[in-house]
Amino acid sequence: MNYEQLAERLLPGEYPDLASFETRYPPRDLPKGAQVTRLAPSPTGFIHLGNLFVAIANERIAHQSGGKLFLRIEDTDLKRKVDGAVEAVIAALDYFDIRFDEGAEIGGDDTYAPWYQRQRAEIYRAYVKDLIRRGRAYPCFCTEEELAALRDEQVANKEITGYYGKYAKCRNLTEEEIYKNLEAGKPFVIRLKSMGDSSRKFTFHDEIKGDVTVTENDQDVVILKSDGIPTYHFAHAVDDHLMRTTLVIRGEEWLASLPIHLELFDVLGFARPKYGHNCSLMKMDGESKRKLSKRKDPELSLSFYRQEGYHPFAVKVYMLTLLNSDFEEWHMKYPEKPLEEFRFRIEKMSRSGALFDLDKLNDISKTELSRLSAEEMLAFLKDWAFSFGSEREQAYFADEEYLLKVLNLCMGTSGKKRRKDFVTAKQAVAEIGYFFGDRVQKDAYRVDDGTRNAILDAFLAKYEYADDAQAWFAKVKEVAAGLGYAAEMRDYKANPEVYKGSVSDVAEVLRIAVTGRANSPDLWTIMQILGDERARARLSEART
Ligand code: GLU
Repeated sequence: MNYEQLAERLLPGEYPDLASFETRYPPRDLPKGAQVTRLAPSPTGFIHLGNLFVAIANERIAHQSGGKLFLRIEDTDLKRKVDGAVEAVIAALDYFDIRFDEGAEIGGDDTYAPWYQRQRAEIYRAYVKDLIRRGRAYPCFCTEEELAALRDEQVANKEITGYYGKYAKCRNLTEEEIYKNLEAGKPFVIRLKSMGDSSRKFTFHDEIKGDVTVTENDQDVVILKSDGIPTYHFAHAVDDHLMRTTLVIRGEEWLASLPIHLELFDVLGFARPKYGHNCSLMKMDGESKRKLSKRKDPELSLSFYRQEGYHPFAVKVYMLTLLNSDFEEWHMKYPEKPLEEFRFRIEKMSRSGALFDLDKLNDISKTELSRLSAEEMLAFLKDWAFSFGSEREQAYFADEEYLLKVLNLCMGTSGKKRRKDFVTAKQAVAEIGYFFGDRVQKDAYRVDDGTRNAILDAFLAKYEYADDAQAWFAKVKEVAAGLGYAAEMRDYKANPEVYKGSVSDVAEVLRIAVTGRANSPDLWTIMQILGDERARARLSEART
């Protein structure tokens, strides 16, 4: 077979010689040990927690080693492309503070650009042409129907599906047959002529999973589609080589394709990068663990965290907790230290599924939010409210001085111990609603209507806005005593049978009347913030 002639026929014209790519995309000038990592999403519009998980690991390893992290858009499959997806990926990762050094829509050093695979079509074709010339790739004229029939046959015979061995029909076409097909104008794809043998296994060192045994690839995978665009497998190998990637950290769903990728690196004469396949995120479903699913688990999508108003820092802390087992202890010990100071280690990444637990994230969120100042909290809530909140909620930000008072109280910033009432921006904004007229009856009164009215009336008669906390509480006690409740807790505890209850039951009625809830920050302060008129109105409106 005259491969040179075939290559010219299949991909006519001048292509740069391959050595020129080595000069155009030279090895990076980085310190020894620096890792070049990348994120290579397809622009499908769906960016999920697994992507963030991998992004954090890639970012940490690159920057910690003095290397680079770049963003490449793998848009070879147009069917899956969604408009605005690239912007969505960047915005989502930016929210979680993942900073790329270079890449699509990022800019930066453009030595290794372009970063959209479709813009690199010429490069891939040059490599494909070379493979054809070397007899390592061939045209395949099989139609969709033929391939579907082949698949059915393989399934019926309980054989591995795909284009390999005796099933790789076009691999053995004669020169004459090939040209006849070309003359007839039959569309074709280019396939790799695999030299692998699926009865052979080999051991591969994965940076996360350790040594893994995999089967050699024997599939003649498509490398160039009929429209002249390469497949992901082929494009990524060329790109990772030319963009000088040293370490690929990606989801473990790619482990199955690894033998294909390694064969491609080898046949192309490229040094292989290191690979680390990250375990999938799991969750408990009843008694058993399962992978997070796009269909069943809204928390898989990164947009969930923005919409719910999770603080990106809290999510990042949780991701790091899952990624490196010693992170949690480090962060607990040094909560003030920037996360970058933690020494992230790939060896510490879990080899099997990391268990994702929303309750744990909520706990972390409470702690992280409690560490913010009221001003930081305000900025965070405002950001959320103006993207996702209602108009009524946005109006809370009209008087920031008032809001700061509310936040200082709700966060307990003046006390020794911070309150941990806030989990997300959405929940926090709802939580403070009662300071803005949105008094929602959250908890029910535990006294009968008559008693409730009596307590409210008695307290209203004594209430003075100017009273300090002590005087205020003394009046609550007076009301309690007047209505048969123990004014002092210890009296009640000593002789519970002689009282209707204690001062805390009376305070609870007042608290529910003012806030709609049985638990709240200090009630006197709440009434101070609300102001005389509003506080009184709440008490009298609460009568039945
Ligand atoms: N484009 C692939 C994806 O969408 C990236 C796989 C890889 O990182 O090699 O996940």
